[in-house]
Amino acid sequence: MDRLETLRGKLDEVNLKLLELLNERAGIVREIGEWKEEKGMAKFDPIREREMLETLVKHNRGPFTDDQVKHLFKQIFNVSLGLQEAGRKKELLVSRKRRQEDTVVHAKHVAIGGPARTLIAGPCSVESYEQLRAVAAALKAVGVQVMRGGAFKPRTSPYDFQGLGVEGLQMLKEVADEFGLVTISEIVHPAHMELAERYIDMIQIGARNMQNFELLKAAGETRMPVVLKRGISATMEEFVLAAEYIVSRGNEQVVLIERGIRTYERWTRNTLDISVVPILKQETHLPVLVDVSHSTGRKDILVPCAKAALAAGADGIMVETHPDPQTALSDADQQIDLEQFRAFCDAVQQSGLLRK
Ligand code: PEP
Ligand code: MN
Repeated sequence: MDRLETLRGKLDEVNLKLLELLNERAGIVREIGEWKEEKGMAKFDPIREREMLETLVKHNRGPFTDDQVKHLFKQIFNVSLGLQEAGRKKELLVSRKRRQEDTVVHAKHVAIGGPARTLIAGPCSVESYEQLRAVAAALKAVGVQVMRGGAFKPRTSPYDFQGLGVEGLQMLKEVADEFGLVTISEIVHPAHMELAERYIDMIQIGARNMQNFELLKAAGETRMPVVLKRGISATMEEFVLAAEYIVSRGNEQVVLIERGIRTYERWTRNTLDISVVPILKQETHLPVLVDVSHSTGRKDILVPCAKAALAAGADGIMVETHPDPQTALSDADQQIDLEQFRAFCDAVQQSGLLRK
């Protein structure tokens, strides 16, 4: 019995020594990682890894077999590489670890994020002055300050309405100025950033373009607020890294929007991922909005979905509305008419969830 106790005592000692050495090793690995990061070198070096394993095997006196030694050390190497990756993630500019305070995005007199909660509404596409004026008046009447409307429409079919282009942006500007509203519209080409600066107040990067890296870089070069939509099947990590593209070019005015992801479900157009809201709020300091129209593709569940999003911590909601949805040139099935829009705003405003 005494012998067992002694051996166990020795084992405990060795465990602690091993722990100390492993942590010492991890510290060195981290330093190497930082150095490589600075020099822009790849973290994983397979040749170096093979050399280390060969040296270990050469010095192996047993009782572990050479294969067992290799297996054990490969585990250690992998965990260490993971440490370097975790370090890299921690350093993202959009990460909450880099900045504790919420980023507040400003577009003219409107703030998104921080204590504010913002409603954005408007038609899927800009179609005419009459249409836009009717929407603008409805927004104004319920105190919604940000009007959306697509002028460059990325449509699944090339035969569908592609948007009015520059003319649409001009209409947005004219009507927004008339009603004192702030505008947001999708930009699909890096060369169109100047147009955006001239005619609108916020740039939307659509779901289909979330990983259009040249577009992200161009948006990063502007100083306009950018509303970045989550890709149709983008993971949260891909979404966050897309935002990092913009912020790393010097534009910190970025808003993230969940707009539903593609799943097997057919009763909704996409699947609204509410979990992304608290996760993005936790992992990043950027404002997070939820687009209840594209995420559901339905008119009958907008209020509960908007409430759920706000309850989960969203900084605001985007919803599509059109004076005559039946005749809308895009997304006719999901746009609510102006009467339904008033009822939607009433319900959301009265829920108390627009106050933080
Ligand atoms: C839109 O907002 O009209 C749009 C095309 O959205 P998404 O990029 O989310 O599909
Ligand atoms: Mn739409």
